[in-house]
Parts: sequence; C-alpha cells; structure tokens
Amino acid sequence: MENLYQDTMKDLYQDIIEKDSKYVFQNYTRQPIAITSGQGALVRDSQGKEYIDCVAGIAVNNIGHCHPAIVEAVSRQVSELIHVSNLYYTHQQAELAARFVPRTGMDRVFFCNSGTEAVEGALKLARRATGRTDFVAAEHSFHGRTMGALSVTHKPQYREPFQPLIQKVEFVPYSNVEALKGAVNNDTAALILEPIQGEGGIRVPEEGYLQAAKDICEDAGALLIFDEVQTGMGRTGKWFAREHSGVVPDIMTTAKAMAGGLPMGALLAREETASKMQKGDHAATFGGGPLLCAAALASLKVIEDEGLVDRSARMGRYLIEKLEGLELEAVREIRGKGLMVGMELAVKCGPVVDYARENGVLLNCTSDSVLRFVPPLVITPTQIDRVVDVVAQGIERAE
Ligand SMILES: *Cc1c(COP(=O)(O)O)cnc(C)c1O
Repeated sequence: MENLYQDTMKDLYQDIIEKDSKYVFQNYTRQPIAITSGQGALVRDSQGKEYIDCVAGIAVNNIGHCHPAIVEAVSRQVSELIHVSNLYYTHQQAELAARFVPRTGMDRVFFCNSGTEAVEGALKLARRATGRTDFVAAEHSFHGRTMGALSVTHKPQYREPFQPLIQKVEFVPYSNVEALKGAVNNDTAALILEPIQGEGGIRVPEEGYLQAAKDICEDAGALLIFDEVQTGMGRTGKWFAREHSGVVPDIMTTAKAMAGGLPMGALLAREETASKMQKGDHAATFGGGPLLCAAALASLKVIEDEGLVDRSARMGRYLIEKLEGLELEAVREIRGKGLMVGMELAVKCGPVVDYARENGVLLNCTSDSVLRFVPPLVITPTQIDRVVDVVAQGIERAE
C-alpha cells in the first residue's frame, strides 16, 4: 500500500513538471518539489514529505501557513463580497486603514497588490511632491521588477536587458554616509533605502546610517523612502524595521506579509507628502479590495493576539545564538534582526540548500553565498533546533 501511494504521488509531480515545462514561462529556477499543503511553520510536498519552512513564501507567511483565523476571515468574506473597485467605499478598507496606519508611523495609506507596485507608487509620489526627477538608491538594493522599481534595483543582470529605465538614478554603497553626501542633491526627488537589505544578502546598516540619511535628505529638500516590503509586519522583531533606528521617513512601502499570504501592498506617507497626491494621480483596480482587507485585518489581529512581533525578536535571537554556536569554518558572518537572518558562507550555498531540502528543511540563498532564514514567526524552538542541525550537516558536507 505504502509503495502504491507513493507511486501515485510521484505521478502528480511528473504531471506538474510536464505541464509547467510546456506551458509556463521558464523565468523561474525552481526547487524540484511541488508543495501541496501547509500548517504553521510546516509544509508538505506531493509525495507527503514534510518540511520546516524557513522561506515562508519569501517572508510572506509571517503568521504561519493556513492560520485558522485567516481561513475563517477569508471564507466568511468570500461569500459576502469579493471585489467592487475603488469607485465605492467599503468598511473593510476603512477599518484596515484605521488599524494599520497608526502602526506604521505614517499618516495615510494607498493600498495596492504587491511590493513592486508599492514602490512604483512611492516613486511617483516623490516626483509629484517635490517636482524633481532624480533618485538615489543603494548598491545591493532590491525594490521590484516593474520598470520604475527596477530602475532603483541595483543588480545589473536584472536591469540592463530592459534599459532605458527611468532617469536618473545614482547607486551609492549601502551603509556609507559619505557616499550619500555627494549623491543626494537639489535635483533628488528621493533617496530609497531598505532599512535592512533583504535580497541583497540580509545587510544590516551601521548604527546612525538611517538617521544620517534622513538628515542629508532634509538638507537637500529630498524625500526619504523606506522600502519595508520584506522587513515589515514583525519580521525583524519590531512592527517595522525603521523602529530599530527611530527614523521616520517621508514615504514607506510594505507588502509581502501584509495579508497573511494574499497579494497586498501599501504605499504610506506623512501627511505633508501624502497631501500632494491629487485626485486621479494614481489608482489600482484591485487595491484594497474587501477580500484582501479582510485577510489583512485577520493577519494584523493574529500578530497582535499571539505577540508575534516579540516572538520574532526572541526566536531570532535564539536562532542566531544557535547558528553562532556551530563555529563552522565555512561561515563568514551571521547577521540580521528578529527572524530575518542571513548566514554568509565561504562556499556556494546551493548544495547546502539541496541538502537541507532533502532532509526536511526549506531554505533559500540570496546573492550566491548567503543562506536566508525567514521562517514563519510562529516557528518553535524545537523546529529551530532541527533547522540548525540540518544546516550544520549541510555545511560540513559542502566544506
Ligand atoms: C520582494 C521585495 C519587493 C518586490 O515585491 P513583489 O511583491 O515581489 O513585487 C520590493 N522591495 C523589497 C525590499 C522586497 O523584498
């Protein structure tokens, strides 16, 4: 029976591969498994194999997979009202704005559907509010893949095939105050920064950098944008990573974990900047729809009720301590805040990712040599212990 069951499931995987390779754009490099279900910090593949998920849909599933509160809220909303457009008011959107905005340090919100879309809105707002055109961004930055967001994304392989992009963008070394001084000037609409870089390899800036960035922008009459698409919603042990520095930007973006796994993003701004957005300047058909807002409301409530922001800080410290305790030669550096942790290796991390997956742990690799740990914030110490054991074995093999 056991064998028969496994064979049937293997056929399902084969079927998926055949259809994908024939009909889907081949722009993704995928891991060789198909995921069929998830619960908390665990997911299961088409062969019934279980994994501890340290990818979490790339920092999306902060409250865990299929949290009962999201399942309930979405199920209820889906039978009441799914979509109506922003030609009308809905109480779900107003309620979400009222609960969410005070958490952010900003004054107003525009709802959209993804991180890149939030960044597009931020760039448009910066031009609108300042009447200037230029942007400054950081090396190793990642802000998204649409034309505007791509223009401020550093990686040349992502950008160059699609030039010309928006002009003019200057890239400066991250966490380097001197470099900002020359670059941010009277033509700069905004400086855009991730308060901790995600895709660029979990880089935490030096103390004082974000405050200096704020001061330099103010002197030049430029706006400061914090891209908290990945760092938001408790990921770094605070609601937003900017809180570690106390700096309040003019504009902020967030997305990934906002609606518990459903697609939602937000562009936020201080009143002075938000008020420059005129009627008709910007819009999104699906933005802030009732179904998405119901999911985001449920997700916010779970983060509050279960104390997931503090838990992220605690579990993050525990994970970093355990990783540091390994004292492996192939480990260059361990860095991060809360449950956004990177482990830079002296070896390629691909084989470690493969070994971990084969042994029931999902991880991914950013900028070639950095293992990224962004598990659901509900991950348990026992699960972290298992993750660290498997990673240690994987690295020992790769050495
Ligand atoms: C993921 C990410 C984006 C892009 O978000 P999408 O939803 O994939 O468009 C933008 N900025 C940061 C910092 C991100 O991590």
